[in-house]
Amino acid sequence: MSSLRGLVADTLEFSSVDGPGNRFVVFLQGCTFDCLACHNPYTINPCVDCGECVDQCPSGALGFTTTGAVTWNPDVCLQEDHCHAVCRYASSPKARHLEVADLLARIRPAAPFLSGVTVSGGEATMQPHFLRALFDAIKADAALSRLTCFVDTNGDAPASTWKLLDPVLDGAMVDLKCLDPAIHVALTGSDNARTRDSITRLAGRGKLHEVRLLILPGRNDDVQLLEATGDWLADIDPRMRLKVIGFRRHGTRPTPIPLVEPSREHLERCAGIVAARGDFSVTVV
Ligand code: SF4
Ligand code: SF4
Repeated sequence: MSSLRGLVADTLEFSSVDGPGNRFVVFLQGCTFDCLACHNPYTINPCVDCGECVDQCPSGALGFTTTGAVTWNPDVCLQEDHCHAVCRYASSPKARHLEVADLLARIRPAAPFLSGVTVSGGEATMQPHFLRALFDAIKADAALSRLTCFVDTNGDAPASTWKLLDPVLDGAMVDLKCLDPAIHVALTGSDNARTRDSITRLAGRGKLHEVRLLILPGRNDDVQLLEATGDWLADIDPRMRLKVIGFRRHGTRPTPIPLVEPSREHLERCAGIVAARGDFSVTVV
Protein backbone atom coordinates (compact mmCIF):
# COMPACT_ATOMS: atom_id res chain seq x y z
CA MET A 1 0.00 0.00 0.00
CA SER A 2 1.17 3.52 -0.75
CA SER A 3 3.03 5.33 2.03
CA LEU A 4 2.03 8.70 0.58
CA ARG A 5 0.70 11.09 3.18
CA GLY A 6 -2.12 13.57 2.68
CA LEU A 7 -2.85 16.70 4.66
CA VAL A 8 -6.25 15.88 6.18
CA ALA A 9 -8.42 18.47 7.92
CA ASP A 10 -10.92 15.98 9.32
CA THR A 11 -13.00 12.90 8.64
CA LEU A 12 -16.71 12.23 9.12
CA GLU A 13 -17.92 8.69 9.64
CA PHE A 14 -21.41 9.08 8.18
CA SER A 15 -22.91 11.71 5.90
CA SER A 16 -26.06 11.66 3.79
CA VAL A 17 -25.36 15.02 2.08
CA ASP A 18 -21.99 14.36 0.43
CA GLY A 19 -23.05 12.19 -2.49
CA PRO A 20 -25.34 9.20 -3.01
CA GLY A 21 -26.29 7.09 0.00
CA ASN A 22 -24.47 7.00 3.28
CA ARG A 23 -20.86 8.12 2.94
CA PHE A 24 -17.60 8.37 4.84
CA VAL A 25 -16.13 11.82 4.14
CA VAL A 26 -12.48 12.86 4.09
CA PHE A 27 -11.89 16.62 4.23
CA LEU A 28 -8.49 17.55 2.81
CA GLN A 29 -6.71 20.71 3.91
CA GLY A 30 -5.95 23.35 1.27
CA CYS A 31 -7.97 24.98 -1.49
CA THR A 32 -7.33 26.77 -4.77
CA PHE A 33 -10.19 29.21 -4.13
CA ASP A 34 -10.84 31.70 -1.32
CA CYS A 35 -14.62 31.92 -1.44
CA LEU A 36 -16.43 34.68 0.40
CA ALA A 37 -19.20 32.19 1.17
CA CYS A 38 -16.94 29.31 2.29
CA HIS A 39 -18.48 27.26 5.11
CA ASN A 40 -15.16 25.58 5.99
CA PRO A 41 -12.79 28.59 5.79
CA TYR A 42 -10.30 26.94 8.17
CA THR A 43 -9.59 24.35 5.44
CA ILE A 44 -8.40 26.86 2.82
CA ASN A 45 -4.69 27.04 3.72
CA PRO A 46 -2.10 24.88 5.45
CA CYS A 47 -1.11 26.13 8.92
CA VAL A 48 1.96 28.40 8.90
CA ASP A 49 2.78 27.72 12.57
CA CYS A 50 2.47 31.39 13.54
CA GLY A 51 1.37 30.27 17.01
CA GLU A 52 -1.31 32.94 17.46
CA CYS A 53 -4.00 30.38 18.27
CA VAL A 54 -2.01 28.53 20.94
CA ASP A 55 -2.75 30.91 23.84
CA GLN A 56 -6.40 31.16 22.78
CA CYS A 57 -7.08 27.47 23.40
CA PRO A 58 -9.02 27.16 26.69
CA SER A 59 -8.32 23.44 27.04
CA GLY A 60 -4.55 23.59 26.57
CA ALA A 61 -4.75 21.30 23.54
CA LEU A 62 -2.30 23.41 21.52
CA GLY A 63 1.42 23.73 22.04
CA PHE A 64 4.76 23.80 20.26
CA THR A 65 7.37 21.27 19.24
CA THR A 66 11.00 22.06 20.04
CA THR A 67 11.34 23.36 16.48
CA GLY A 68 8.39 25.74 16.83
CA ALA A 69 5.74 23.79 14.94
CA VAL A 70 2.26 24.00 16.46
CA THR A 71 0.94 20.77 18.00
CA TRP A 72 -2.63 19.67 18.74
CA ASN A 73 -3.66 17.09 21.33
CA PRO A 74 -7.02 15.61 20.31
CA ASP A 75 -7.37 13.84 23.67
CA VAL A 76 -7.89 17.12 25.55
CA CYS A 77 -9.43 19.22 22.73
CA LEU A 78 -12.98 20.37 23.58
CA GLN A 79 -13.75 20.96 19.87
CA GLU A 80 -14.87 24.52 20.56
CA ASP A 81 -12.80 25.76 17.60
CA HIS A 82 -11.44 28.95 19.19
CA CYS A 83 -8.36 28.26 17.04
CA HIS A 84 -10.41 28.52 13.85
CA ALA A 85 -12.02 31.74 15.04
CA VAL A 86 -8.70 33.52 15.71
CA CYS A 87 -6.69 32.21 12.74
CA ARG A 88 -5.96 34.99 10.23
CA TYR A 89 -4.66 32.51 7.67
CA ALA A 90 -7.88 30.55 7.03
CA SER A 91 -6.26 27.50 8.54
CA SER A 92 -6.40 25.04 11.40
CA PRO A 93 -3.83 23.60 13.80
CA LYS A 94 -5.75 20.30 13.72
CA ALA A 95 -4.91 19.22 10.15
CA ARG A 96 -2.84 16.05 10.14
CA HIS A 97 -0.54 14.29 7.70
CA LEU A 98 -2.13 10.85 7.38
CA GLU A 99 -1.22 7.81 5.33
CA VAL A 100 -3.73 5.92 3.21
CA ALA A 101 -3.59 3.09 5.80
CA ASP A 102 -4.62 5.56 8.54
CA LEU A 103 -7.73 6.49 6.57
CA LEU A 104 -8.59 2.87 5.76
CA ALA A 105 -8.41 2.11 9.48
CA ARG A 106 -11.02 4.83 10.07
CA ILE A 107 -13.23 3.68 7.18
CA ARG A 108 -13.25 -0.05 8.02
CA PRO A 109 -15.44 0.01 11.17
CA ALA A 110 -18.10 2.04 9.33
CA ALA A 111 -17.88 0.13 6.03
CA PRO A 112 -20.84 -2.25 6.57
CA PHE A 113 -23.12 0.79 6.82
CA LEU A 114 -21.64 2.80 3.95
CA SER A 115 -22.43 3.28 0.26
CA GLY A 116 -19.12 4.93 -0.42
CA VAL A 117 -16.35 7.37 0.37
CA THR A 118 -16.33 11.04 -0.63
CA VAL A 119 -13.21 13.17 -0.55
CA SER A 120 -14.02 16.84 -0.01
CA GLY A 121 -12.16 19.81 1.41
CA GLY A 122 -10.80 22.34 1.09
CA GLU A 123 -10.33 21.13 -2.42
CA ALA A 124 -10.11 17.37 -2.90
CA THR A 125 -8.13 17.53 -6.14
CA MET A 126 -5.26 19.62 -4.72
CA GLN A 127 -3.60 16.38 -3.54
CA PRO A 128 -4.22 14.24 -6.65
CA HIS A 129 -1.63 11.53 -6.02
CA PHE A 130 -2.82 10.96 -2.46
CA LEU A 131 -6.40 10.86 -3.73
CA ARG A 132 -5.47 8.30 -6.37
CA ALA A 133 -3.61 6.20 -3.79
CA LEU A 134 -6.59 6.28 -1.41
CA PHE A 135 -9.08 5.26 -4.09
CA ASP A 136 -6.66 2.59 -5.40
CA ALA A 137 -6.44 1.13 -1.90
CA ILE A 138 -10.23 1.11 -1.44
CA LYS A 139 -10.73 -0.65 -4.79
CA ALA A 140 -8.05 -3.23 -3.95
CA ASP A 141 -9.39 -4.06 -0.48
CA ALA A 142 -11.78 -7.03 -0.43
CA ALA A 143 -13.84 -5.55 2.41
CA LEU A 144 -14.06 -2.05 0.90
CA SER A 145 -14.10 -2.56 -2.86
CA ARG A 146 -17.91 -2.29 -3.11
CA LEU A 147 -17.72 1.32 -1.82
CA THR A 148 -18.00 3.97 -4.52
CA CYS A 149 -15.30 6.65 -4.65
CA PHE A 150 -16.50 10.24 -5.16
CA VAL A 151 -15.02 13.72 -4.96
CA ASP A 152 -16.75 16.90 -3.91
CA THR A 153 -14.81 19.53 -5.86
CA ASN A 154 -14.74 23.16 -6.94
CA GLY A 155 -13.64 21.78 -10.32
CA ASP A 156 -10.48 23.89 -10.37
CA ALA A 157 -8.26 21.02 -11.46
CA PRO A 158 -6.23 20.49 -14.64
CA ALA A 159 -7.02 17.81 -17.20
CA SER A 160 -4.03 15.81 -15.94
CA THR A 161 -5.69 15.39 -12.53
CA TRP A 162 -8.90 14.00 -14.04
CA LYS A 163 -6.83 11.67 -16.23
CA LEU A 164 -4.95 10.42 -13.16
CA LEU A 165 -8.20 9.82 -11.23
CA ASP A 166 -10.27 8.44 -14.09
CA PRO A 167 -9.60 4.70 -13.47
CA VAL A 168 -10.71 4.92 -9.81
CA LEU A 169 -13.22 7.77 -9.73
CA ASP A 170 -16.89 6.78 -9.68
CA GLY A 171 -18.40 10.25 -9.57
CA ALA A 172 -17.94 13.93 -8.84
CA MET A 173 -20.09 16.64 -7.33
CA VAL A 174 -18.86 19.93 -8.83
CA ASP A 175 -19.60 23.42 -7.50
CA LEU A 176 -20.18 26.07 -10.15
CA LYS A 177 -19.96 29.26 -8.09
CA CYS A 178 -20.90 31.40 -11.09
CA LEU A 179 -20.80 31.00 -14.87
CA ASP A 180 -19.70 34.60 -15.39
CA PRO A 181 -15.87 34.70 -15.06
CA ALA A 182 -15.70 38.22 -13.60
CA ILE A 183 -18.32 37.51 -10.93
CA HIS A 184 -16.59 34.21 -10.23
CA VAL A 185 -13.35 36.09 -9.53
CA ALA A 186 -15.19 38.47 -7.21
CA LEU A 187 -16.76 35.58 -5.27
CA THR A 188 -13.80 33.18 -5.15
CA GLY A 189 -10.63 35.10 -6.03
CA SER A 190 -10.12 32.86 -9.08
CA ASP A 191 -11.19 32.38 -12.67
CA ASN A 192 -13.66 29.59 -13.52
CA ALA A 193 -12.12 28.31 -16.78
CA ARG A 194 -10.87 25.06 -15.24
CA THR A 195 -14.17 24.50 -13.42
CA ARG A 196 -16.10 24.83 -16.68
CA ASP A 197 -13.64 22.52 -18.40
CA SER A 198 -13.91 19.98 -15.57
CA ILE A 199 -17.72 19.91 -15.76
CA THR A 200 -17.55 19.28 -19.51
CA ARG A 201 -14.82 16.68 -19.14
CA LEU A 202 -16.49 14.75 -16.29
CA ALA A 203 -19.85 14.73 -18.07
CA GLY A 204 -18.13 13.35 -21.17
CA ARG A 205 -16.72 10.51 -19.09
CA GLY A 206 -20.10 9.78 -17.45
CA LYS A 207 -18.67 10.79 -14.06
CA LEU A 208 -20.51 14.03 -13.37
CA HIS A 209 -22.82 13.04 -10.53
CA GLU A 210 -24.13 16.53 -9.85
CA VAL A 211 -23.50 20.24 -10.42
CA ARG A 212 -24.11 22.47 -7.42
CA LEU A 213 -25.16 26.10 -7.78
CA LEU A 214 -24.85 28.29 -4.69
CA ILE A 215 -27.27 31.22 -4.84
CA LEU A 216 -26.03 34.50 -3.35
CA PRO A 217 -28.81 37.09 -3.72
CA GLY A 218 -27.66 40.22 -5.53
CA ARG A 219 -24.36 38.57 -6.52
CA ASN A 220 -25.03 35.64 -8.86
CA ASP A 221 -28.82 35.45 -9.23
CA ASP A 222 -29.44 37.80 -12.14
CA VAL A 223 -32.17 36.30 -14.36
CA GLN A 224 -30.11 36.49 -17.57
CA LEU A 225 -27.15 34.93 -15.81
CA LEU A 226 -29.28 32.07 -14.47
CA GLU A 227 -30.76 31.52 -17.94
CA ALA A 228 -27.27 31.49 -19.47
CA THR A 229 -26.14 29.03 -16.79
CA GLY A 230 -29.05 26.72 -17.58
CA ASP A 231 -28.34 26.96 -21.31
CA TRP A 232 -24.65 26.22 -20.81
CA LEU A 233 -25.35 23.20 -18.61
CA ALA A 234 -28.07 21.93 -20.96
CA ASP A 235 -25.60 22.01 -23.85
CA ILE A 236 -23.41 19.63 -21.86
CA ASP A 237 -26.21 17.36 -20.64
CA PRO A 238 -29.84 18.55 -20.54
CA ARG A 239 -30.71 15.76 -18.11
CA MET A 240 -27.94 16.33 -15.57
CA ARG A 241 -28.55 16.39 -11.83
CA LEU A 242 -28.48 19.91 -10.33
CA LYS A 243 -28.52 20.97 -6.72
CA VAL A 244 -29.49 24.61 -6.14
CA ILE A 245 -28.26 25.68 -2.71
CA GLY A 246 -29.14 28.82 -0.80
CA PHE A 247 -26.32 30.70 0.91
CA ARG A 248 -26.34 30.23 4.70
CA ARG A 249 -24.20 32.48 6.86
CA HIS A 250 -23.46 29.84 9.49
CA GLY A 251 -19.74 29.02 9.59
CA THR A 252 -18.67 31.73 7.15
CA ARG A 253 -16.23 34.58 7.80
CA PRO A 254 -17.04 38.29 7.91
CA THR A 255 -17.00 39.51 4.30
CA PRO A 256 -15.95 42.82 2.71
CA ILE A 257 -19.23 42.89 0.78
CA PRO A 258 -22.55 41.96 2.42
CA LEU A 259 -23.87 38.48 1.62
CA VAL A 260 -27.58 37.85 2.07
CA GLU A 261 -29.41 34.59 2.71
CA PRO A 262 -32.14 33.92 0.11
CA SER A 263 -35.71 33.21 1.13
CA ARG A 264 -37.11 29.81 0.16
CA GLU A 265 -39.34 31.50 -2.42
CA HIS A 266 -36.40 33.31 -4.00
CA LEU A 267 -34.31 30.14 -4.08
CA GLU A 268 -37.11 28.20 -5.79
CA ARG A 269 -37.59 31.03 -8.28
CA CYS A 270 -33.87 30.89 -9.15
CA ALA A 271 -33.98 27.10 -9.45
CA GLY A 272 -37.03 27.37 -11.71
CA ILE A 273 -35.24 29.77 -14.07
CA VAL A 274 -32.31 27.38 -14.47
CA ALA A 275 -34.53 24.29 -14.63
CA ALA A 276 -36.61 25.75 -17.48
CA ARG A 277 -33.55 25.66 -19.79
CA GLY A 278 -33.25 21.86 -19.77
CA ASP A 279 -34.74 18.62 -18.54
CA PHE A 280 -32.62 18.63 -15.39
CA SER A 281 -33.23 16.72 -12.20
CA VAL A 282 -33.23 19.61 -9.73
CA THR A 283 -33.02 19.58 -5.94
CA VAL A 284 -33.36 22.80 -3.95
CA VAL A 285 -31.77 22.95 -0.50
S1 SF4 B 1 -13.91 26.08 -3.11
FE1 SF4 B 1 -14.97 25.29 -1.29
S2 SF4 B 1 -13.39 24.97 0.30
FE2 SF4 B 1 -12.51 26.24 -1.32
S3 SF4 B 1 -12.77 28.31 -0.58
FE3 SF4 B 1 -14.53 27.82 -1.94
S4 SF4 B 1 -16.15 27.05 -0.60
FE4 SF4 B 1 -14.20 27.00 0.57
S1 SF4 C 1 -3.88 27.53 12.82
FE1 SF4 C 1 -3.68 29.65 12.15
S2 SF4 C 1 -3.35 30.86 14.03
FE2 SF4 C 1 -2.93 28.69 14.54
S3 SF4 C 1 -0.71 28.45 14.25
FE3 SF4 C 1 -1.71 27.83 12.32
S4 SF4 C 1 -1.72 29.67 11.03
FE4 SF4 C 1 -1.32 30.35 13.16
